[in-house]
Amino acid sequence: MEDMTLLLERLRGRLPSEEPGARGLERVARNPGCLRLRTLVMIGVIPASAARDIYGFPAEEEESHFALSAGNKFERRLLENGAAGLLDLYRAAGRLGPTECRVCFVPDLRPQFQFAEASKRWTLTDGLLLKKLVRDPEAPNILIKPRLPVPLLGSEHDIEPDALVAADSERFYTPVEVKSYPDRGGKTDPADVRNACRQVAVAVVALRHAASRLGVADPESLVPATADLILRRPGSNFPVLRSMPLKGEVYSIARVQNEADRTIDEVKGLIRPGSTLDDPTTLDLIPNNYLESCRENCALAGVCKRQAIVAGNPVLLGNRVKEELAGAGSINRALELLHDRSDSTVCWKEQRLRNALQEALRAYRKVVNHGR
Ligand code: SF4
Repeated sequence: MEDMTLLLERLRGRLPSEEPGARGLERVARNPGCLRLRTLVMIGVIPASAARDIYGFPAEEEESHFALSAGNKFERRLLENGAAGLLDLYRAAGRLGPTECRVCFVPDLRPQFQFAEASKRWTLTDGLLLKKLVRDPEAPNILIKPRLPVPLLGSEHDIEPDALVAADSERFYTPVEVKSYPDRGGKTDPADVRNACRQVAVAVVALRHAASRLGVADPESLVPATADLILRRPGSNFPVLRSMPLKGEVYSIARVQNEADRTIDEVKGLIRPGSTLDDPTTLDLIPNNYLESCRENCALAGVCKRQAIVAGNPVLLGNRVKEELAGAGSINRALELLHDRSDSTVCWKEQRLRNALQEALRAYRKVVNHGR
């Protein structure tokens, strides 16, 4: 049997391998029904590259240049002067005491340890995590940009959470995600909060994995499904700290974690032996699962929407209509049923849908004809 790593490399064809990062990994959990996205992540191709290099389609990602530079500026302010802003925030929230000020900038340790390989960066992060586990009084209270591997879909992917934080009295660290979105309380865009939560949930999974690697028997109780979100106070650059429960987000990532074998078996059953996925005709054979939310989540949305239009996919009319027309499978078939134009056998599900559609059409005509 072909080795999984070699198989994934072969399927990637001429494209270079890329790390999806926490954001890319959480997207898989957002649309677990999309075999195409799952496959691309497995073979190490990010959706933006697939859109551009496989389909020749302008990618619809990512954050605007303006949003990126605002985010970087906000994060820089928190981390400058030895992460003074971050320490102040946690002290003001009562989460760190005045003497709990040991901050470790993990990327800055790189030259000292001369590690070019990712595995050495994990080792370094592991060493710092171990200090905390053995209650070493010198264990940092804040780790900035630690490197953690997270096993997902058959490979270990590297992620770099913004920070990990723990008071001296705490057994282990809490992951932290910094976003420059303004925190407007209940009026904060729920999509922004949801996306940030899903992203930091990947760090929870990675931290549990690290704890287990370091010999912790019950990593779930050591690393609960919670994380800190740092947002921006509206109209200023001051940070706001929110502790977020992430049970659902962590569960959805854990659910796709072990899907590697099933994914690869499905892919092998769909494409010709020896073919590679850097070819649009072959990649088209891997089913997608276009959703309304794809537009905001995935750079392949333009490609997949075009395919949804060709297929007459009811999701184009919204998720609710997709549910309603599930019995027909396509907008064209629904129209055939509605107007009794079907020249193939109509099954019981379609009959039920035809009755509902025709009833709705009669009601609509009655309304527009003022009851006549
Ligand atoms: S845009 Fe396409 S590939 Fe991306 S998640 Fe949606 S259906 Fe899947």
